[in-house]
Amino acid sequence: MKEGDRASIWWPVVETKTNATAGRGVVRPGHEVHIMTLSDGGSASVEVVVVGGGPAGLTAAVALAGAGVPTALVAAQSGVRDNRTTALFSSSVAALEAIGAWEACRADAAPLKTLRIVDDTGRLWRAPEVRFDAAEIGLETFGWNIENRSLVAALEARAQALPSLQRLTADAAAVEIGEDGVTIRLADGSAVTARLAVGADGRRSICRDAAGIDTQTWRYPQTALTFNLKHSRPHYDISTEFHSTKGPFTLVPLRGLRSSLVCVTAPEEATRLLQLDPAERNAELERRSHSILGRIEAEPGHGAFPLAVKNTRRMAANRVALIGEAAHVIPPIGAQGLNLGLRDAATIAELAVKARRDGADAGSGEVLKSYDRLRRIDVAARTAAVDLLNRSLLTDFLPVQGIRGVGLYLLERIGPLRRALMREGVDPVAARPRLMRGEALA
Ligand SMILES: Cc1cc2nc3c(=O)[nH]c(=O)nc-3n(C[C@H](O)[C@H](O)[C@H](O)COP(=O)(O)OP(=O)(O)OC[C@H]3O[C@@H](n4cnc5c(N)ncnc54)[C@H](O)[C@@H]3O)c2cc1C
Repeated sequence: MKEGDRASIWWPVVETKTNATAGRGVVRPGHEVHIMTLSDGGSASVEVVVVGGGPAGLTAAVALAGAGVPTALVAAQSGVRDNRTTALFSSSVAALEAIGAWEACRADAAPLKTLRIVDDTGRLWRAPEVRFDAAEIGLETFGWNIENRSLVAALEARAQALPSLQRLTADAAAVEIGEDGVTIRLADGSAVTARLAVGADGRRSICRDAAGIDTQTWRYPQTALTFNLKHSRPHYDISTEFHSTKGPFTLVPLRGLRSSLVCVTAPEEATRLLQLDPAERNAELERRSHSILGRIEAEPGHGAFPLAVKNTRRMAANRVALIGEAAHVIPPIGAQGLNLGLRDAATIAELAVKARRDGADAGSGEVLKSYDRLRRIDVAARTAAVDLLNRSLLTDFLPVQGIRGVGLYLLERIGPLRRALMREGVDPVAARPRLMRGEALA
């Protein structure tokens, strides 16, 4: 690693985006809430509007409408081309079960019974292999791995089955915030007004800009490549993470003789891998996987994601609550991103349902403050852990490599420590909204 590279790892490029006033959206104090019937070019009024139909937004919309909160979802028809998969921990699965979306996922999801971390750095300070077994904490599985397109299709089907959920199938063009409500305007001139807007519109969120919420971004010298693989040997429900000096190479079981792969590596190496012809690439992936899955054949299609962290200073303000990647982007290491996003969705849904039951305003400053307080620690802790793990791999600074090795050694040797970490991973103590405990909101 060159000297300059090390500097960019320890003092990363930081971009700060300040939205002290409004960004792309429009803040218009004192704006009135309109009560109208929705039609093309017309307006509607609901209690909560969810902007964005990714997995986080769909989960929030289904949870809210399913619990009787008048809700609108502003989301273009999905037609997902995402080839990624998501490892969902059991608390996320409990939430999807509670909102009636898991049944349709079950046949496509593969259980994750064992997680292995293997040091493939070839360095002097090599950590021992650490193995986490769900059975060790009395669970059948840590969670399930599912293709994003199956997850989104199941949530879409559930959303369509809820007559109380109004669907506006277009992107939001503008977000106008007033004292009593927030109005989402679509390109065709129609609009929906609500007490609370749930911004689930991904990393370039216009809801976040309109609410004046600042972001801070730092980038890593890494790209995550995603492939889905067919292989000749069974995976035995084991996910294996090979830690290399460029980042983790993670194999996660899918149904049958299939697995998903997230290969985090240097950008130039990612480009090289993508330029290889399929047979050469398969051979290279098999070599990197130490042939534990036998012969490998990558299915057509791949993803490439530059690695970054994007933080928000607040998760909610000015009648907008951010969820999922609108609120936080973290590297795909340790399967944290959407599990956090689903906890956001479950938390804001619970607060909005309670506000409605109490006859209170779902978008009030009080509700938004509670949401920010309930989500901040969980998001900050997971972001810091993923960041630290990633940096400890990238660094060529011997003491840090040593600390990482000792940490993994202790995890391997000390059962109670390992079990505490497993329990926290599956069911975080600081973030237990009702849906994550499998309890319905209605
Ligand atoms: C390689 C990789 C592997 C990952 N693996 C895992 C894993 O195993 N486990 C895990 O928990 N997480 C994982 N993640 C993270 C996870 O994929 C993300 O957290 C998740 O996809 C984010 O979902 P979201 O709904 O917040 O955002 P998105 O999926 O980005 O959805 C946002 C939606 O909003 C829409 N939108 C944008 N602007 C507007 C607008 N103006 N109006 C209306 N709609 C709009 C977009 O079209 C999109 O549909 C991984 C990420 C990567 C990159």
